[in-house]
Amino acid sequence: MPIYNFDLFVIGGGSGGVRAARMAAQRGARVALAEAAELGGTCVNVGCIPKKLYSYAAGYAEAFEEAPGYGWQLGEARFDWDVLKANRAREIHRLNGIYGGLLDAAGVTLVNGWAHLEDAHTVKVGTSRHTARHILVATGGRPFVPELPGREHVQVSDAMFDLPAFPKRLVIVGGGYIACEFASIFNGLGAQVTLVQRQAHLLSGFDEDVREFLAREMGKAGVDIRLNAEVASVARSRGTDAPLAVMLSRGQQIEADTVLYATGRVPNTEGLCLEAAGVALDERGAVKVDAHYRSSVPSVYALGDVSTKMQLTPVALAEAMALVDALFGDGKRKVDYDCVPTAVFTHPNVGTCGLTEAEARKKYEKVTLFSSEFKTLRHTLSGRQERTFLKLIVDTASDRVVGLHMVGPDAGEVVQGFAVAMRAGATKAHFDTTIGIHPTVAEEFVTMREPMPG
Ligand code: NDP
Repeated sequence: MPIYNFDLFVIGGGSGGVRAARMAAQRGARVALAEAAELGGTCVNVGCIPKKLYSYAAGYAEAFEEAPGYGWQLGEARFDWDVLKANRAREIHRLNGIYGGLLDAAGVTLVNGWAHLEDAHTVKVGTSRHTARHILVATGGRPFVPELPGREHVQVSDAMFDLPAFPKRLVIVGGGYIACEFASIFNGLGAQVTLVQRQAHLLSGFDEDVREFLAREMGKAGVDIRLNAEVASVARSRGTDAPLAVMLSRGQQIEADTVLYATGRVPNTEGLCLEAAGVALDERGAVKVDAHYRSSVPSVYALGDVSTKMQLTPVALAEAMALVDALFGDGKRKVDYDCVPTAVFTHPNVGTCGLTEAEARKKYEKVTLFSSEFKTLRHTLSGRQERTFLKLIVDTASDRVVGLHMVGPDAGEVVQGFAVAMRAGATKAHFDTTIGIHPTVAEEFVTMREPMPG
């Protein structure tokens, strides 16, 4: 049997890579992890965490607007972009340190630098060469920007957290998670935001009612949403300080200080020499893996955004734990991709679990729908016109709740709990016999009695 330096060599120190390295080391494996940048990957450095912090920052604007209705008289509120950036940077730096500490405490060897595969069992980082029984590629993804005239003028989400100057006018291209979240954030922070989406709706893949409702609410909150619209070019006509001119295909022009392209993400597989080592990639450049995260080379595995269909941190974490269990445990842990709850941290939030109405109609012979739209108690005094939308989709034959959707305050927090019930097979009858918590928004999920017509 060949002697390797390590039992597992992980390439990439993001959510999936760090979790796999730690768990494997805790099970007694000899583990190394290579990372060329800060630990924590997209989620910690330029994704979930800073995005949620900025979303909280934006939320204060709503609170200030609502406060007088509750008797508070406030002075003039002024937002300081530099303070937010500095505080975010400090917190992210703290988290980078925690990730390093966790790896260290687990006994993982951290290798700083860009790693690439030399063969099925060898990783090279700079001039050092490491052999391993198993190699895990967990290099994540990066933003994708399509070809367009003026591409050099546009930003991607990674750069938005640290823009030198706050963009008073921001154009966002795309209608997915990132486009919608950034639109809400910068709108809340005081920018004039225009969102340009090529489809007739935002959030492809989400329930149609949710998509429509969210666009309406974001529009009411001040985001200028241009649907069925495409960008033809981006140009800066005068000096470097001049605004950008975004030309739409239909001829309109929008001036902007910053243009953000949030048009999807692609797997980070370039420069890893994967194909040279025999690792097959798909047409998107993602590592092709089987149900056990094994690539076309039996000793090389991949998980998270570099290979998965679901680009979500908790999915990468679950995949990491299943893989480590398969390699160093009893192999009993599996990831079930059904009913993965997800949230979009727009203002208001979107939370969803299970099927959309269209998917449910395809899968089940008959579905029963319940929905509710209302102004929450909070907004009776706040003066805001924001409304909340809830929807349940029930397989009529089994009475099981197969889809649950919410556009409203803290939808991510609310849907997380309902996701447990749905995975446990909850029926509409279970929802109906559950006592509500009053007065909450979420209680409406257990008090919807009348099905929608049709
Ligand atoms: P998404 O795939 O969610 O959205 C991409 C958007 O860009 C879509 O609206 C798409 O249009 C549009 N688009 C794609 N190509 C072009 C093009 N050439 N020209 C114009 N528009 C285009 O990607 P994101 O970048 O927003 O996010 C990537 C992934 O990261 C998400 O899918 C999600 O899994 C994850 N994520 C999760 C978050 C969370 O959990 N809260 C937050 C942020 C990201 P169309 O509608 O036609 O497809």
